[in-house]
Amino acid sequence: MKRAIFPGSFDPITLGHYDIIKRGIRLFDEVIVAIGVNSAKKYMFSLEQRKQFIEAAFKDEPRVKVVTYEGLTVDFCMKHKVDFILRGLRNPADFEFEKAIAHTNRDLAPVETVFLLTAAKTSYISSSIVREVIRHNGDYTLLVPDSVRV
Ligand code: ADP
Repeated sequence: MKRAIFPGSFDPITLGHYDIIKRGIRLFDEVIVAIGVNSAKKYMFSLEQRKQFIEAAFKDEPRVKVVTYEGLTVDFCMKHKVDFILRGLRNPADFEFEKAIAHTNRDLAPVETVFLLTAAKTSYISSSIVREVIRHNGDYTLLVPDSVRV
C-alpha cells in the first residue's frame, strides 16, 4: 500500500492544503495529514480544532487520515511504515526551503519526498494570511474549506 504523509501546522487548513490533499489521494492509497506539535510555537487554533477542521473537510474520504505527531517527520514515517512525504510548492521560496528539508530527510531515512505544484488559483494562499484576515474580521471563508469557521 502506497502511503504518504502530508505534514504541516494547518493553522488553519486552507484551500491550498485542501487542493494538495485531494490531488494526493489520486497518487497514493492513503494520505495521512499529520499536524506537527511544536511546543515553542504559538497557534491561533488549538490542536483539537485544527484536527477537527481537517477531519470535517474530508469526512467523506476514508483514505484521508488525520493525526498529530511530535518529533521528526522521518521518525513518524519509519514507525508507521510511510514511504512518501507529500509537500506543496507555491513559489521559489518554498522550493529553496523544501529542498533543504527533503535532502536532510533523505540523509536520515529512505523516505522519498513528492512535490506537487499548487493549483494556480490557490497558490497565493497561506495560513498566515488567513490568520491575518481572521484577526481583522475580514471574509476568510473564501480562502478555507467550509469546515473552517471561527
Ligand atoms: P508549515 O509551514 O508549518 O510546514 P503549513 O501548514 O503552512 O505548514 O504547510 C504544509 C504544507 O502545505 C507545505 O508543503 C506547504 O508548501 C503546503 N502549502 C501551504 N500553503 C499552500 C497552498 N496555498 N497551496 C498548496 N500547498 C500549500
